[in-house]
Amino acid sequence: MNLTRLVYTSRHSDLVMEDFDQILMKSRRNNQRDHITGALIITDTNFMQLLEGSRAAVGQCLMRIAQDRRHSEVQIVSCGDVQHRLFMEWYMHLIMASRVKKEIISMYLIGGVFRPDQMSEFAVEDLCRTLSEGNWDSEAA
Ligand code: FAD
Repeated sequence: MNLTRLVYTSRHSDLVMEDFDQILMKSRRNNQRDHITGALIITDTNFMQLLEGSRAAVGQCLMRIAQDRRHSEVQIVSCGDVQHRLFMEWYMHLIMASRVKKEIISMYLIGGVFRPDQMSEFAVEDLCRTLSEGNWDSEAA
């Protein structure tokens, strides 16, 4: 099986925690079925999502996500074959950007703001790798 990793960003507005919970619940159910793993990073204005799985499964998932009216301006940041999964244990790991330690997030600010949609492919991949290694939560011991 070709293992594909895809990262996209999008914009959201007027969503509340209940919306995020619904998205997460549906994503985890579908992704388990489709053998997709990954992470969804949420900022005040943007989503950044990493999906990894077979090329077909990731492609079909992206098609559904792109048509979802709960966000807009979907932009693919990177996509390609990889050797292994970064988020092997997560059908969808929810990461609130506000909880990521300041010393980690500060490395990726653009003009003092965390805007995943404006980050380079390299910076996005580097951030995803860092987040997949754990110990990013500002409230973790
Ligand atoms: P159903 O759940 O039956 O949905 C049917 C239709 O209704 C779809 O078009 C769906 O988009 C729409 N819909 C359902 N609930 C709502 C709602 N509360 N408000 C508005 N429209 C709604 N899906 C995944 O499978 N995997 C993912 O990793 C994933 N990540 C996502 C990340 C983001 C940022 C967003 C916004 C959505 C994500 N989704 C993900 C959800 C995806 O967009 C589809 O809604 C979902 O895959 C459709 O599942 P379904 O085929 O079982 O259809």
